[in-house]
Amino acid sequence: MYKLENHMEAVTRQALKEYMTKVTLCCTCERCLADILALTLNQLPAKYYVSLKGEILTQWESQNRPDQARIMAAIVRAAKQVEATPSHD
Ligand SMILES: [Zn+2]
Repeated sequence: MYKLENHMEAVTRQALKEYMTKVTLCCTCERCLADILALTLNQLPAKYYVSLKGEILTQWESQNRPDQARIMAAIVRAAKQVEATPSHD
């Protein structure tokens, strides 16, 4: 089946994983990570494309790498926000 994918989301998930290997977050539970991901993606433009389910990187994707520095800056901002006001106790 054809599926709508947000390339920015895939790249941001990967960047968040890398960020976590370098920085110790106050909380790395599923909820906080989802919050950070959501807040990060809200700051970035979506990059939708149509893919077949399970399809690996297309040529289009590999040629359209979003700005890593911009993504990292958005992650740092989102992480600080979640750290200051977590969604749980
Ligand atoms: Zn948490």
